[in-house]
Amino acid sequence: MANQVQPIFILPEGTQRTTGRSAQRNNIMAAKLVAETVRTTLGPKGMDKMIVDSLGDVIITNDGVTILEEMQIEHPAAKMIVEVAKTQEDEVGDGTTTAVVIAGELLKKAEGLLDQEVHPSVLSRGYRLAEEKAQEILKKLGEPITEKDVDTLQKIAMTAMTGKGAENAKELLSGLTVKTIMMVMEKHDGKITINTDDIKLEKKVGGSVYDTELVEGIVLDKERVHGSMPKTVKDAKIALLDCALEIKNTEIDAKIQITDPSQLQAFLDQEERMLRNMVEKIAKSGATVIFCQKGIDDLAQHFLAKQGIYAVRRIKKSDMDALVRATGARIVSNLDDLNKEDLGYAGVVEEIRTGDEEMTYVRNCKNPKAVTILIRGGTEHVVDEVKRAMDDAIGDVAASLKYGRAVGGAGAIEMELSKELRKFASSLSGREQLAVHAFADAVEVIPRTLAENAGLDPIDVLTELKAAHDRGQKWAGIDTFSGKVIDAWKDGVIEPLKVKTQAISSAAEVAVMILRIDDVIAGSKSGGGQQGPPGGMGGMGMPEM
Ligand code: ADP
Ligand code: MG
Repeated sequence: MANQVQPIFILPEGTQRTTGRSAQRNNIMAAKLVAETVRTTLGPKGMDKMIVDSLGDVIITNDGVTILEEMQIEHPAAKMIVEVAKTQEDEVGDGTTTAVVIAGELLKKAEGLLDQEVHPSVLSRGYRLAEEKAQEILKKLGEPITEKDVDTLQKIAMTAMTGKGAENAKELLSGLTVKTIMMVMEKHDGKITINTDDIKLEKKVGGSVYDTELVEGIVLDKERVHGSMPKTVKDAKIALLDCALEIKNTEIDAKIQITDPSQLQAFLDQEERMLRNMVEKIAKSGATVIFCQKGIDDLAQHFLAKQGIYAVRRIKKSDMDALVRATGARIVSNLDDLNKEDLGYAGVVEEIRTGDEEMTYVRNCKNPKAVTILIRGGTEHVVDEVKRAMDDAIGDVAASLKYGRAVGGAGAIEMELSKELRKFASSLSGREQLAVHAFADAVEVIPRTLAENAGLDPIDVLTELKAAHDRGQKWAGIDTFSGKVIDAWKDGVIEPLKVKTQAISSAAEVAVMILRIDDVIAGSKSGGGQQGPPGGMGGMGMPEM
């Protein structure tokens, strides 16, 4: 009793701490769960998810990153996996499910090796080696592709849309995708640049997916604010405002007491003068069209109409940015600063009825690269999902051209990669070999999942695929309809190389990062940042070690 160890507290009260194997297991488990969730959506036969948020809004989607973002995941390791999907989305725009599923599988295989007492740092080193080699192998496997390969590009767009809500109209939509990319593409000294921000995807419920069209210019889901404004403005000089054309300033909302009618009149006159003044400043700048991010007072609308100015209010920030790029205008925050140099140009601005609503079309812009794809569909859910599919297709076609390489999908590239990695593994010795083997096995999760999701027997399919690759059929993949082995390239299941290199590198990165964690220290949430004194009462007590 005399030499009882005195506990020492080094962490504030309420802190939770897990260490060693249990920390690792927890993290791996969480990451695997995330991968498991999106796994069933992979491929042409993948299912959709319905996500209902706290406000009761419903999203139906097959898109990996959308699912993960909407799920509002809290576990820190699980969140790291969600980041992988986001990186993939930012870098390519497609392959989010693939990246997450591979990350999950890498961790699952790692777990097996941890059980065999392979040390996490050996494992991470092996994974890093495998990842580097994988990039090298992938680069060699990619087939060159240029802007002249229109047919192949169209197939790439179609592959991106397979299994999504856009599938029925994929011929039309993939054609539109390629045409759009060609319009915004620039080539300098043989190097292709594509700024996908030049492509605006606008949704409009009504009609059918087949009514989706490409508009050269910007389409705004907005009508002009006043009926007597011109419906069409040719040679439009465009002002972009991010200040309100209103008197009321909600920040300094004063109370005005009026005691006799003449005062009221004076007050109204004053207000009218100020609004008239604002409109005069706009007219004086030479603007014939204004796009305002904020509100426009009724009276100001009236004055603008009288001046023959076309005005639209409450425009989204993202649309303002698109207008800046398209028309060359500068956004002005103070009317006093507005002058001729700030104005942008479009050949024509007009209001056109689309479906049963009016929209504003800004065409023949100064920057001819600004284009809009106006997505149509029967319901909100349809247009939303078509938009996500188009996003993927645009990302894929752009990535194929930018990096100039494409690969066969349907599990072909993963099988070939796995085969080559195994060869590499046998050139290594010791425990790293185990890790590289595990990596090679993990990559096969893609063809396996494609088969599973199609209701096929994954063992049969994988065995046949392996045999085909061993015979040297580089692009042997799965026909998810018949279960037969196909030549993915010949059958037009083609993806950009970049989808695969990015998926492998972010999946490996997050797997290694998670494997290297052996201690999770989580501060108490309710504590609200109040840190107790070190060694204070309660808290995280640990006997002296
Ligand atoms: P991700 O979010 O990873 O892009 P998808 O649900 O879009 O997930 O599925 C992509 C996978 O589906 C790729 O491995 C791709 O090769 C495969 N795939 C696409 N179209 C076909 C097809 N027609 N036949 C077989 N596999 C296909
Ligand atoms: Mg995809």
